[in-house]
Amino acid sequence: MADDKMDKIVSLAKRRGFIFADSEIYGGLNGFWDFGPLGVELKNNIKKAWWKAIVQSRDDVAGIDSSIIHNPRTWEASGHISNFSDPMVDCHVCKQRFRADHLAEEQGIEVSEILIKGKCPTCGSKDFTAPKAFNLMFQTHVGPVADDASVAYLRPETCQGIFINFDNVRQSARLKLPFGIAQIGKAFRNEVNPRNFIFRSREFEQMELEWFCEPPQFASSKKPDEWHAYWKEERMNWHLAMGLKKENVRFRDHEKKELAHYAAAATDVEYNFPFGFKELEGIANRTDFDLKQHSEFSGKDMRYFDEQAKEKYFPYVIEPSLGVDRMLLALLCDAYAEDEDGGESRVVLRFAPQVAPVKAAIFPLIKKPELMAISEQITQSLKQDMVVFYDETGSIGRRYRRMDEAGTPYCITVDFDTLDDQAVTIRDRDSLKQERIKIEEVKAYLLEKTR
Ligand code: ATP
Repeated sequence: MADDKMDKIVSLAKRRGFIFADSEIYGGLNGFWDFGPLGVELKNNIKKAWWKAIVQSRDDVAGIDSSIIHNPRTWEASGHISNFSDPMVDCHVCKQRFRADHLAEEQGIEVSEILIKGKCPTCGSKDFTAPKAFNLMFQTHVGPVADDASVAYLRPETCQGIFINFDNVRQSARLKLPFGIAQIGKAFRNEVNPRNFIFRSREFEQMELEWFCEPPQFASSKKPDEWHAYWKEERMNWHLAMGLKKENVRFRDHEKKELAHYAAAATDVEYNFPFGFKELEGIANRTDFDLKQHSEFSGKDMRYFDEQAKEKYFPYVIEPSLGVDRMLLALLCDAYAEDEDGGESRVVLRFAPQVAPVKAAIFPLIKKPELMAISEQITQSLKQDMVVFYDETGSIGRRYRRMDEAGTPYCITVDFDTLDDQAVTIRDRDSLKQERIKIEEVKAYLLEKTR
């Protein structure tokens, strides 16, 4: 059943232009995906909603857009060059490569037991190489000479661009603790096993907030663990406002042994994907590790001067980190439904209106010039404010079906009565109710419902 739902979502995503396998005409490239016309609108709506909640509507968060390639010292300081690796094993027989921790979890054994008890999921053999660390950063070279001195990395996370700009942003935006710096952008990880559609890919986008606050001993208001609790609540409320069903999202606090050595606490927001509850977003208390490391490696003092305490110190950091692509997949899974409209079965994506890629579709009842002209006029006027779609082909029923599959919340039909009463019929995707409203009121109606 779970596989069935996932298969249906993957096929709908391709058929309707949400997501395509990258470079498909050349056989694709494992772990890389392209977003089509509906996918890019959905992605943009996710990013806009996040930016609005985290940056635009707050006084205490500033946004940035840093470079994808940083000076490689950045990744020495962050620990990625020495530590950003996953354990992997190869099957001696079929030569497939697996993430050792995933394989062990799936087979109910410890990583240390793979050589004795592990079984290859592809060919069934019990002959594995010993687990070895595999660094997940993609390497490239900067400049015309490809030698050791020109090695650079595609960022595996966006947050380091924030840490290395901490002083620039603090000073230019005149920020005082507690405050945040946020960024949305691409990240790259050479994942051992990209899988579950876009859940784990090799190129993806992250939306990260680094929330800088006073260390526990200097806390004048909330302590770092209280800010951690605050951001957990904020982020959960955001996920629910985006339309995810309450029963499908939950917190999972990391146990001590799971925590990175520098982290004081970490919580995942998990979503109930068709393949089980999995991490959607991570919310971590990173202590003062990052700024300390960058100060040490760069030689630049990145401590904050606390005017009240008359002390310099490294702020603590609370980090909510969410993948755009993973959020998009959660929204697709959550919205997917099959039901009936007038005795006919339909597939419908019940996106919350503010998330829906297309807000409304406009149809002339039949292909008559006078109805088409009014429909075109309504379409053009709405296009200034929202994404809408004009469709004149096929029966009204088929046009409804197409828009249901795209998750469009409203369909507007121009019929012969429109010529007399200057009104149109608006059909609601979920209740299937139809309302008659004046053409001049359509825009305000849609703006109110879909913002
Ligand atoms: P894992 O342990 O599952 O490899 P992680 O815990 O290292 O992942 P984080 O570094 O916490 O992941 O990444 C923060 C967020 O970025 C994740 O919650 C997820 O939404 C997103 N993300 C991370 N890796 C990927 C990926 N390979 N593909 C898509 N999204 C990702």
